Amino acid sequence: FIHFDGVSKSFGTMKVVDNLDFHVGRGEFVSLLGPSGSGKTTLLMMLAGFEAPTSGALLVDGTRVENLPSYKRNMGVVFQNYALFPHMTIAENVAFPLKMRGVGRARRDARVAKALDLVRLGHLKDRKPSQLSGGQQQRIALSRALVYEPKVVLMDEPLSALDKQLREHMQLEIRELHRKLGLTVIFVTHDQGEALTMSDRVAVLNLGKIEQLDTPSGLYDRPRTRFVAEFIGETN
Ligand code: ATP
Repeated sequence: FIHFDGVSKSFGTMKVVDNLDFHVGRGEFVSLLGPSGSGKTTLLMMLAGFEAPTSGALLVDGTRVENLPSYKRNMGVVFQNYALFPHMTIAENVAFPLKMRGVGRARRDARVAKALDLVRLGHLKDRKPSQLSGGQQQRIALSRALVYEPKVVLMDEPLSALDKQLREHMQLEIRELHRKLGLTVIFVTHDQGEALTMSDRVAVLNLGKIEQLDTPSGLYDRPRTRFVAEFIGETN
């Protein structure tokens, strides 16, 4: 469903993603796991359309997307720093992607109500982001990513600013939304435990290459490289 076909990305002389082949099936939940600087975010940014590959092809549902602007790719994106607009209400924040696409008022209101329902925060729609807790803000960011009903959702360390208990709760909530909406999710994390508990498969990255792409139990039981064995072994 999502194909990286010989994708490389360099910044100046530094090769950050190195001739990567990578395939994600429709409806799969795949994590990109690796140490800082291994290229996880860069991979996600290329898929989202915020960075262009230096070479290679990117396909989503059979369509080449590497030259499409990000708003035409119909993907929901959630970042670590929720990136809500502070001067807008929650409802206006969630409506923003629809407004950008020229969706009319009535349809917008209906979609926003539905998206806020998904994270059960409809009652906060008239508040400003600063009046919400960190966990609530992150659920609003998730709601905004889902508002135009994308098939693919990309998440970059969405839970790393949250405390442990809330993080575990949100992991379950995200898994539940994935299942309920039939989403294809690519989830960036440097947290081994998070990747292993949430994902159908995990891609372990090191220095811009995938060391192993496997199910959690495959990685755990049959690590193919020393790097994977040691990195997965650090799970606490
Ligand atoms: P982290 O977990 O720290 O976010 P990551 O695995 O997501 O790391 P990337 O953010 O993809 O790693 O970065 C990979 C490398 O590319 C890093 O060495 C980073 O400094 C470099 N890099 C990323 N974006 C740029 C940019 N716009 N210009 C120059 N170098 C960049």
